[in-house]
Amino acid sequence: MEISTICRYCGGVIRLVPAETVYDEHTERRGKKGEMIYQCQNCGARVGCHKGTNRPLGKVANEILRCKRVQAHRSFDRLWKRRGMERRNAYRWLAKEMDLSMSAAHIGGFEMDQCQRVIDLCRNEKEAHHERWPEKTDLLHVST
Ligand SMILES: [Zn+2]
Repeated sequence: MEISTICRYCGGVIRLVPAETVYDEHTERRGKKGEMIYQCQNCGARVGCHKGTNRPLGKVANEILRCKRVQAHRSFDRLWKRRGMERRNAYRWLAKEMDLSMSAAHIGGFEMDQCQRVIDLCRNEKEAHHERWPEKTDLLHVST
């Protein structure tokens, strides 16, 4: 992934900053301790990095895109956790469905249309399974 230094929203300068700069006292709770973030110094658009590296997951996101990424992540996490899938297998499935390499299959770097595709994929999966194994889905639903 090419690292851009100019914000695509406002033209501000993007800098690599420690996660603490963004998340403050919530850094640890959000699992971002020791992580780095690319952040526009003007509008605050940002994107995280691959764990333990300075490689960005994608392009910086403004508030609207960040919300969309969170929404997509929530759909995806809910799906694989409910299924009792392994995280790695879940990402393998996502990569295949999205026609991406494993290293590119990070929702934290997805664009608007990719996020919507994740949400749609998860919804379709859920509906397909609900028809086949309603009682199992209900059981899993209770335990989460
Ligand atoms: Zn900006």
